[in-house]
Amino acid sequence: MPAVCVSIGSNLGDRSANLRFAIEKIRKLADGRINVSSVYESEAWGYHSDNPFYNVAAIFESETDPESLLDRLQNIEREAGSGSHRDKEGNYTDRILDIDIIFIGDKVINGRRLTVPHPRMTERDFVLVPVSELSPEWRHPLTGLTVTEMLRQIK
Ligand code: AMP
Repeated sequence: MPAVCVSIGSNLGDRSANLRFAIEKIRKLADGRINVSSVYESEAWGYHSDNPFYNVAAIFESETDPESLLDRLQNIEREAGSGSHRDKEGNYTDRILDIDIIFIGDKVINGRRLTVPHPRMTERDFVLVPVSELSPEWRHPLTGLTVTEMLRQIK
């Protein structure tokens, strides 16, 4: 079964509770077997906000097809009350919960709804730092770089 890595973030409401909510829901999808990183605080990325994010990464095994997995993760975002992550102009906005699929084993997906590995993972330390706690040796299937090497590149 491929290892699925997700990045979970929150910058609205009770951020710790929002992350816990997501982790418990994902734990159920993963039959109880999930590894979760420490919590990191980071400034909003790609837009200005006074509300910093809490971020974690989580890894679990899953045979669910990628699009169905995305559906389930988006349902969890909605259940937490998280609306659209974009404003009317298409810019990022604050959010209760954001769950991104970072990688699914060494699958490469370029679909209409889903790009895997996540195309912006390599430039985001709030993704790479928690992922490096769980899976430092995972290798990006397109660049051949490990998580540790990607982190070194953005520092
Ligand atoms: P955002 O609002 O920035 O969280 O973006 C959500 C959108 O990104 C959704 O419409 C997804 O279909 C799309 N998407 C593309 N690739 C991914 C991915 N690897 N993980 C999560 N969402 C993705």
